[in-house]
Amino acid sequence: MTKLTRRAALAGAAALPLATAATRTRAAAPMMGAADAPYKRFKLGEFEVTTILAGTRAVPDPQAIFGMNVSPEAFKEASDAAHLPIDQAQFFFTPTIVNTGSELVLFDTGLSAEGTTAALAAAGYSPDMVDVVVITHMHGDHIGGVMNGDAPTYPNARYVTGSTEFDAWSAMGNETFDAKMKPLAEQTTFLADGGDVTGGITAMQAFGHTPGHMTYLLDSGGKQLLIGADFTNHYVWSLAYPDWEVKFDMDKEMAAQTRRKLLGMLAADGVPMIGYHMPWPAIGYVETRGDGFHYVPHSYQLML
Ligand SMILES: [Zn+2]
Repeated sequence: MTKLTRRAALAGAAALPLATAATRTRAAAPMMGAADAPYKRFKLGEFEVTTILAGTRAVPDPQAIFGMNVSPEAFKEASDAAHLPIDQAQFFFTPTIVNTGSELVLFDTGLSAEGTTAALAAAGYSPDMVDVVVITHMHGDHIGGVMNGDAPTYPNARYVTGSTEFDAWSAMGNETFDAKMKPLAEQTTFLADGGDVTGGITAMQAFGHTPGHMTYLLDSGGKQLLIGADFTNHYVWSLAYPDWEVKFDMDKEMAAQTRRKLLGMLAADGVPMIGYHMPWPAIGYVETRGDGFHYVPHSYQLML
């Protein structure tokens, strides 16, 4: 079919008058490399929600990360069915910024200050505009950009995180946490399940990935969306197979229970989610499928 079409097109070109072919100049435009705009903004009720791409990279041997407790055959079969290679996976790091109308709230800070502030700038925000920085959990790809050298990246911000999470990492003796988050303790508000960040943004406990991992439910003008962070880490391997063990889940059994619970809730209620590691722009819906779930990337629902 493809060949036939191409042959027909070539025959068409050959039939062009000679003058037309001779006067056509070649642009010789440079190859630009693959690219994506690093932000995606939409309205959710009265809120403006923007996902920002702070970084992306290919990582080898995804089974060692996302399918630790299954056979290579099972991993390959699931990957083949989703048209995914098994030798590498593309990782995405996607903070979210929410303008509530009265405050600008940033959820997670990326691997580094540079990556996140560059994406923020593309989206029209400068670091000094951020009023609140919410940290979902203390892994380096979420707290890496909270400091820029020795100074806070967001000079006017207060901080919000889960109390269980902060306490657990305080006791752990973790170098990144001690350098980036501990110095901010005085300016940090600590939340438990159901705690409010600000009007319309509520913390929801999602323990397992880390001891005190939190997700955040946005609720504005009758519309809801879950900022899910890392409760589910891959759009196929972790959704279709919630019990597949993920290297980064610190308590694998609890993480699997949390995944099933939250994915079940999102599927039942039709509430969209933003997943920090979902494929860019990281916004999607969840359906039940078989014993697991299916990720449906956002198309235009939130534009309407
Ligand atoms: Zn992460």
